[in-house]
Amino acid sequence: TADAALYSAKDKGRNAYQFYNHKMGVLVEERAEIEHALHQALAQGELELHYQPKVNLVSGKIYGMEALLRWRRPGIGLVPPDRFIPLAEETGMIIAIGEWVLRTACAQLGVWHAYGFAHLTMAVNVSARQFRQVDMPQLVRAVLADCGVPAHCLELELTESVLMQNRDLVVRALEQLKEIGVTLALDDFGTGYSSLSYLKQFPIDVVKIDQSFIHDVTDSVDGASLTRSIIAMAKSLHLATVAEGVETEGQLGFLNTNHCDAMQGYYFSRPLPGAEMDLMLYAGTRLPPESCHAVAPQR
Ligand code: C2E
Ligand code: MG
Ligand code: MG
Ligand code: MG
Repeated sequence: TADAALYSAKDKGRNAYQFYNHKMGVLVEERAEIEHALHQALAQGELELHYQPKVNLVSGKIYGMEALLRWRRPGIGLVPPDRFIPLAEETGMIIAIGEWVLRTACAQLGVWHAYGFAHLTMAVNVSARQFRQVDMPQLVRAVLADCGVPAHCLELELTESVLMQNRDLVVRALEQLKEIGVTLALDDFGTGYSSLSYLKQFPIDVVKIDQSFIHDVTDSVDGASLTRSIIAMAKSLHLATVAEGVETEGQLGFLNTNHCDAMQGYYFSRPLPGAEMDLMLYAGTRLPPESCHAVAPQR
């Protein structure tokens, strides 16, 4: 019955919100109401960051984290970013939220550095609107100084659409960010329309191969050859490669065979709250040596 379904949906925690929205429609609210609630969320500390490790495929070790935003909404549960970031972008709230994310992630990185994980990097996702409305280089400089973390340990993840909107403005900001020493990554590569060689005109250092490609590498010959050519193309352009959404040993094996530099995905770890990530760092959790690859010979 509907009541039973509601009850079990609540038990499932983070999926509850999606479930209500899609299947029952009972919690579909007015936009304005969610917008108001989102203002409250920032003011009342309902936003939190979870961290997902990035693992180097040569050493098998965690070298960095990506900060992923969640909204712990009273009475509803943990709301994933896809459910509220588009609205935050439309309304402009992404400016305040984005600054909070950057500060919180860098503060966490400062703590991890102080605990002895001195080489750890932190990646933060950035929206187009932030570049349009905020002097990102100036903000980044200020936050790095406040948190006492070196610029080379901060990575900004940008999608192709961020690069395409306000091209000139973004290029200028990215060049300044490179001068500061920040690492720039192209997120969700392959989902847009541009070729890697076109995107190389932007000062990016890392390509994150979208999870839809990784999903296909073991199921389809075309999927495998597509990903293989992305890795090869990235290498020829001197871009580091990170595979997103790695869930199986088979996918990991493929990435090793094809010398992808790093992986991220549920196979190694889901995004976790900082305190849980502390435990993983202290435990020295890593991939077993047999699931790593040797450094590619220089050609
Ligand atoms: P993204 O930056 O491409 O992040 C990767 C997404 O894939 C995350 O979803 C992550 O939890 C999920 N993921 C990681 N490993 C796996 C896996 O093995 N399998 C599957 N199926 N999924 C995996 P999440 O956390 O829901 O974030 C979704 C998107 O929301 C992000 O995509 C990013 O575009 C955006 N986002 C998250 N946090 C922020 C933020 O602070 N600011 C901005 N502007 N956007 C953010
Ligand atoms: Mg990302
Ligand atoms: Mg991505
Ligand atoms: Mg994405």
